[in-house]
Amino acid sequence: MRKAADDAFRDECGIFGIFGHKDSSAHTALGLHALQHRGQEAAGIVSFDGEQFHSHRSLGLVGDSFNRIEVIERLRGHSAIGHVRYSTTGETVLRNVQPLFAEFDFGGLAIAHNGNLTNAYSLRKELVSRGCIFQSTSDTEVIIHLIARSSYGSVVERVIDALKQAQGAYSLVVLTNDAMIGVRDPSGIRPLVLGELEGAPLLASESCAFDIIGARTLRDLEAGELVVIDNKGLENLKPFPHRDKRFCIFEFIYFARPDSIVEGTNVYEARKRIGVELARENGVEADLVVPIPDSGIPGAIGYAAEAKLPFELGIIRNHYVGRTFIEPTDQIRHLGVRLKHSANQGTLDGKRVVLVDDSIVRGTTSTKIVEMVRNAGAREVHMRIASPPITHSCFYGVDTPDRAKLLASQHDVEGMARLIGVDSLAFISIDGLYRAMGLRGRDAERPQYCDACFSGDYPVPLADCNAESTPNQLSLLDDQV
Ligand code: AMP
Repeated sequence: MRKAADDAFRDECGIFGIFGHKDSSAHTALGLHALQHRGQEAAGIVSFDGEQFHSHRSLGLVGDSFNRIEVIERLRGHSAIGHVRYSTTGETVLRNVQPLFAEFDFGGLAIAHNGNLTNAYSLRKELVSRGCIFQSTSDTEVIIHLIARSSYGSVVERVIDALKQAQGAYSLVVLTNDAMIGVRDPSGIRPLVLGELEGAPLLASESCAFDIIGARTLRDLEAGELVVIDNKGLENLKPFPHRDKRFCIFEFIYFARPDSIVEGTNVYEARKRIGVELARENGVEADLVVPIPDSGIPGAIGYAAEAKLPFELGIIRNHYVGRTFIEPTDQIRHLGVRLKHSANQGTLDGKRVVLVDDSIVRGTTSTKIVEMVRNAGAREVHMRIASPPITHSCFYGVDTPDRAKLLASQHDVEGMARLIGVDSLAFISIDGLYRAMGLRGRDAERPQYCDACFSGDYPVPLADCNAESTPNQLSLLDDQV
């Protein structure tokens, strides 16, 4: 029997939607391809042709599932939404692959969700006790049942009514018989951008999904904003009680693609500025700065420029291996790191090296890389991390393991340095991170971002679980299938 922690749904996802375009499914597949970094284990598209919905959902990469013309041709229609997700492996997850779809009295409704509801378990228990039958273990299905049970008249009112009961992080794209709806939770934790292609409105997690199809990025949806896109145009509503915006700062550190413009900021430039601050705070005598590719590259560029040290590719990445972190077991993760990186001996031999990465989660990557760099002859190895120590799990949709597995929750910086095997280790401070984002520092009274993974300050209550002691998300055991 699997443990709840293993079975929890890691809603590390990307979403996309297009309304009123003849090539809606092909564009959705391309958009999802650009969002592949947000989730690599499953992908799905639901389209609507004016009469019928069509769906194709599959485990694996977008390129593997949507590479055949027959698949795209079957997804007929002028509107489509899509989803890429991280999820647990195995047969059992297919029923959780999004977009989820349900038939209602008002017609069909497909929904794609990025984020994680923090009261999904409590809501679900209550719904089940009132007779709801769940098909999946995804928190997104809770929203579907809340829509079904709502006593309001219109689809939009019912969606709003459902979301008023939900807590946590959600960016959603919803497709109905006559509209596409986009919505961001009241704290705006996860991203959602509005775009346009040949007059057709688009929604996506990140602007890179628009760039790939030559579409224009218009703007980010605001925190708590809901847009209804139909044949009459676009209507925007602010249906939820106001909350301070707390966009996830980890999107800038790791999650978003560097070429995306997120919340008005180019992610690559932000990462370079983080590297600059990191060097200002934690300089060290060295010969070269070496990024841990790919995630450490922009930070290392900024660090090297500020420290006036040469930037060298001392570690080479094999691009034919997916993100190691995504692999499900520790054993595979260990293997994955070796498959993915190799040391460039000619560059490292005899040198004092500053290694830069964006984050340390379990410490697996850093430990392996340091060993590799030492074996390649480096005289000193100093590690600099372009984020503060990750001491707390994320409950809002980024896949971090439960607290006990987070290296920084178990050890202080010195202890981590010893375990990783470096001569010195330093992280950017939270204030330094905020400075890199163009602010004076973290406003402790009203922090401008969600930085719970570094601070333990969770902006939305964790109704389902106690962050101090339980796995990163409550989930339902599901080992019968
Ligand atoms: P670890 O080896 O567990 O310390 O993980 C650290 C590595 O994973 C870093 O190189 C990061 O770039 C990457 N990483 C950090 N957070 C995530 C995440 N949520 N999903 C996938 N990879 C991540």
